[in-house]
Amino acid sequence: MVLNPDVVVRGRGVMEKCSMCQQRLQAGKLEAKKAGTALKDGAIQTACQGACPTQAIVFGDLNDKDSQITKEQADERSYYLLEDVGIKPSNTYKVKVRNQDEPLLSSHTPKATNHSKTEHHS
Ligand code: SF4
Repeated sequence: MVLNPDVVVRGRGVMEKCSMCQQRLQAGKLEAKKAGTALKDGAIQTACQGACPTQAIVFGDLNDKDSQITKEQADERSYYLLEDVGIKPSNTYKVKVRNQDEPLLSSHTPKATNHSKTEHHS
């Protein structure tokens, strides 16, 4: 509370869920409203998004077809949790990129050379 007045201090035994940084959302919306402009994509950053040095967290408006989050969600690596159950949450994750060695190994198979030929001198 002392460090961040936007965060409510709760008693013991209470687990807080992600609020999608509502305080930042509301502040960003208010700024856009005061300026008389539409809220631009990327104008609001969540705290975790801003803190992540690899920019692994993307936050935005899924109703905006040109937003970065919409493009990220359309990526083939994106998936929903419990997708097979039929729910469609707003959060998506991306599968881990794994090295696929098979094509690399087959393309680097050494060719037969004459270097293995042995010579015998008598
Ligand atoms: S910092 Fe990230 S995890 Fe925490 S409330 Fe904000 S959006 Fe949710």
